[in-house]
Amino acid sequence: MTRGGVVVEMTSLGNSQNGSGISVCSDQGYADVGGDQLWVDVLRATLEQGLAPVSWTDYLYLSVGGTLSNAGISGQAFLHGPQINNVLELDVITGKGEFVTCSKNENPELFFGVLGGLGQFGIITRARIVLDKAPTRVKWVRLLYSDFGTLTKDQEHLISIEAPNYVEGFLVTNENTTNDWRSSFSSPSNQSDVVSSFKKNNGLLYAIELVKYYDNQTAQTIDQEFEKLLKELNFIPGFIFSTDVAFFDFLNRVGNLDNEKLPLTESHPWLNLFIPRSRISDFNSGVFTTIIPEFNEPFGLFIFYPLNRNKWDDRMSAVIPDEDVFYTLALLHTSGANEYQTIDKFNGQILEFCEKAGIEVKQYLPNYQSKQDWIKHYGSKWNIIQKRKAMFDPKMILSPGQRIFNSV
Ligand SMILES: Cc1cc2nc3c(=O)[nH]c(=O)nc-3n(C[C@H](O)[C@H](O)[C@H](O)COP(=O)(O)OP(=O)(O)OC[C@H]3O[C@@H](n4cnc5c(N)ncnc54)[C@H](O)[C@@H]3O)c2cc1C
Repeated sequence: MTRGGVVVEMTSLGNSQNGSGISVCSDQGYADVGGDQLWVDVLRATLEQGLAPVSWTDYLYLSVGGTLSNAGISGQAFLHGPQINNVLELDVITGKGEFVTCSKNENPELFFGVLGGLGQFGIITRARIVLDKAPTRVKWVRLLYSDFGTLTKDQEHLISIEAPNYVEGFLVTNENTTNDWRSSFSSPSNQSDVVSSFKKNNGLLYAIELVKYYDNQTAQTIDQEFEKLLKELNFIPGFIFSTDVAFFDFLNRVGNLDNEKLPLTESHPWLNLFIPRSRISDFNSGVFTTIIPEFNEPFGLFIFYPLNRNKWDDRMSAVIPDEDVFYTLALLHTSGANEYQTIDKFNGQILEFCEKAGIEVKQYLPNYQSKQDWIKHYGSKWNIIQKRKAMFDPKMILSPGQRIFNSV
């Protein structure tokens, strides 16, 4: 992770007197949380007081400092912005060894710098996270689409209205995928129609995943409200898979992957992209309907949904396309330990296609080899990133493994 350097074991903070732990301030609507804390523990602690953070990642066994150094996105981000947009204050230890409290008004350069800052400017030791009243249950549906234009029209409609609480989507690349849902989702009877649709469509279908929260007070009206929402959508008639689960179980749907029972021999050469909306149809024809079907991958999960740019504060270090709406594509590959080169090549093919077609994608959780790549990635933000590095970590000791300022 850092040749010749040190790795900071953040969890030791939690065991020390200096650690923030998790302290919920219910009357003020926030929680003070140590950078070492896992989001799943933040959820448990806040739910005890009937509250919860508003913006999430799909997976909860990640540290608060870790996701805030990237962005932290999931199906709630279209409405509330990424996790980095829902932070009121931070404690940071800079590369100069200074302990600084920062917010929008106090030391704002450091505050906006470390949010999405890939660990370059300081170590986040405490974050003050926005909370809201927590629902108790969620209505959760998956809707199937065979036409890409209809899918994106519906996804964009959903993120333009404030009615849903969560909107995602994914590619159905495997005929059996919908079978996997049967155990937990009620499903339509005419399954075979979907299979024939799938075959006609180059072995590809699309899905929207849509959620609405409710509690005892809204339980009477939730079905009606959901029906109203569904009427505005154009999924394949009948192809709606629905379920109803506790709020905690929905957010914790992936469970804990840091699990001794799971094979240690897997590798995960993921590629996460932000794609400008204006080129999404070109992206579909070049990548979804051409490159992906040629790559016969049995275990990958390909998540795809739109986000609103106006929910991101441009002063933060995170980088997104310069359009009002952009899509995120997470190619979450799983391969054997020695097979990752094939997937790396496939990921490279996608990036190469975008380059040649002039589709200005931005990598999320970026992985670049050269400084030139980083300069291109940051675009007009490069000057401010350099300035922040000089201000807060002039000796360039923090997170050299990203290869932004250091060649390692
Ligand atoms: C299974 C899985 C699912 C994921 N799902 C999502 C998702 O749905 N949405 C999403 O947005 N992201 C997702 N991610 C990516 C995740 O946001 C990043 O990997 C993040 O870095 C994870 O935090 P961590 O605690 O594992 O960080 P680590 O792997 O421990 O750290 C990664 C880097 O982040 C920086 N960093 C970590 N902690 C701090 C800190 N306290 N202060 C400053 N810098 C720090 C450092 O540069 C460090 O090298 C997922 C990752 C995994 C492994």
